[in-house]
Amino acid sequence: MVRREAAVPRAPYNTTPVFAASAEGASIDDVDGNRYLDFAGGIGCLNIGHRAPRVTAAIQEQLAKHLHLCFAVTPYEGYIAVAEKLNALAPGNFAKKTILLNTGAEAVENAVKIARAYTKRPAIICFEDAFHGRTMMAMSLTSKAHPYKAGFEPFASDVYRIPFAYSYRSESGTTTEMFAHHLENAFKRSVAAESVAAVIAEPVLGEGGFVVPPRDYFKAIQAICRKHGILFIADEVQSGFARTGKWFASEHFGIEPDMITMAKSLGGGMPIAAVTGRAEVMDAPGVGGLGGTYCGHPLSCAAALAAIETIEKDGLLTRSTAVGKHFETRARAWQKKWPLVGDIRGLGGMCAIELVRNAQTREPAESETKQIAEYCYKHGLITITAGTFNNVIRILVPLVVSDEQLDEGLDVIEAALASVAEQKQAALSHA
Ligand code: PMP
Repeated sequence: MVRREAAVPRAPYNTTPVFAASAEGASIDDVDGNRYLDFAGGIGCLNIGHRAPRVTAAIQEQLAKHLHLCFAVTPYEGYIAVAEKLNALAPGNFAKKTILLNTGAEAVENAVKIARAYTKRPAIICFEDAFHGRTMMAMSLTSKAHPYKAGFEPFASDVYRIPFAYSYRSESGTTTEMFAHHLENAFKRSVAAESVAAVIAEPVLGEGGFVVPPRDYFKAIQAICRKHGILFIADEVQSGFARTGKWFASEHFGIEPDMITMAKSLGGGMPIAAVTGRAEVMDAPGVGGLGGTYCGHPLSCAAALAAIETIEKDGLLTRSTAVGKHFETRARAWQKKWPLVGDIRGLGGMCAIELVRNAQTREPAESETKQIAEYCYKHGLITITAGTFNNVIRILVPLVVSDEQLDEGLDVIEAALASVAEQKQAALSHA
């Protein structure tokens, strides 16, 4: 850590001071010989687990053939095979095309470029509590000021923001219609509908705290988009590839996005991202208008095909649903015991608890959440927090986790909650 601090700037934050030596399935061994259960999965990149056997075999096979070539110079089959697979998997019974990129932020940047090229309109509407990445356009679309935006102004122009359907932090009784109405309002208050190229949304907020909107919400949003010739982009970078019990969270909401951005678990541990969308939309930018040196790297393509095969053959969609159900059962018991557990929510294995100081006022329990995450890693569990108010513990455990490992990890979270709740109780009685 001393060497890290001397050699690396402070901005790329480390949530734990644990230096990894090796990893397998749902666990990580550190350089001191400690074993950790991994409930973070490299922030949702390891739905199929660390070093999934099909992925490591596919990478080795590819290593013997060729590494970087650049798809723009000499194309290779792996890129096309990934595109074909994603075109088939993405929801929507229409012709689709896919472009490959390196990261989630790059996928978002490209989806925006494609939407503008297709609609010939400038504006993009995004949501409060959204996270879309750290590059210029993606950061402009991202919601949280600290630490993602402060000091990095000015942002990209033509970005407009409306509230998300965050029921727990909205007035009780707010209906889907009322949530969706924010979009119609924006056309009056902020930007003319005919200037809007696209609305971009995470079907389940990721960094924003695993907020799951009502099931009919995105149908309402997409209907408004269609009425005005606006494209709907689903950012499934975190919610895709079995995380929510389906290939894409969009499927839970019965929508067929015009474009979907993907990354993270698509690569099974390798960097790769994609935008899949309606063929006519994807073909809008001119020849040479999109791309990048390393986009769709051969090793990443091999890994992605193997990751998709692993999800298919190992039943990880069903497993995700089961992981989510088990989490919910355990979390309900925590909520009964400790008012600190304000909200329990999730979709399949994308689940979380939101912590509050007071069940009525719902004041975010930020420092308590930090204490819980710290307790966890000190007791062998790597977790990460989320939420605009830094008060959400989210579960991104590799779905290959065994039942025993899952309970072992949840036992640590339970003990952490008990410890923090007791400290609060003790502080109150001393006061
Ligand atoms: N979109 C979403 C929904 C994400 O969760 C993230 C990463 N947390 C990104 C985009 C950015 O992805 P990357 O870090 O690969 O650029």
